Amino acid sequence: MMNADRRCVGPKTAHVGEQELENEMLVLVATRETQGREDGDYCSTVEGELVTPITFECCVPDTCGCGRGYPGLVSAGATTTAMVVDRTAITPQILRQSVTDSLERGGWRDMADEEFEQIIDDHVHTIIRICKAFGDGAIVRRDGPAFWADVRRSAA
Ligand SMILES: [Zn+2]
Repeated sequence: MMNADRRCVGPKTAHVGEQELENEMLVLVATRETQGREDGDYCSTVEGELVTPITFECCVPDTCGCGRGYPGLVSAGATTTAMVVDRTAITPQILRQSVTDSLERGGWRDMADEEFEQIIDDHVHTIIRICKAFGDGAIVRRDGPAFWADVRRSAA
């Protein structure tokens, strides 16, 4: 089962210039900027760590606040404010691995492989989709499945 499908793709051909710019990767990171602007803001993440816009909400997400949070992929904390940033050092593979590691540490590995892969895909795709929608520098808040930008930093 393991070997049949496994293909060695080898390292990607390295291109310089334009190609590298196209590989710029927007990700969501924890920020304290605009914290306190909304009631019930919280930020127990590590500044600048990767966060995910998907949470497993408890039964009272409104009073608890988890429905508004972005869990950090490294810390066990969460934040209500996430910033879209361009991290050229992060590739889709690294992002995927970070999500995987975080979920494994969180005890979510105990399910069928296919199901687990699906959840990882959801995280990665949602991060990419939100980053594209709001753009570099946006501070994005959420409430359940709804996302909006708090402020947009000037690009200068
Ligand atoms: Zn909760």
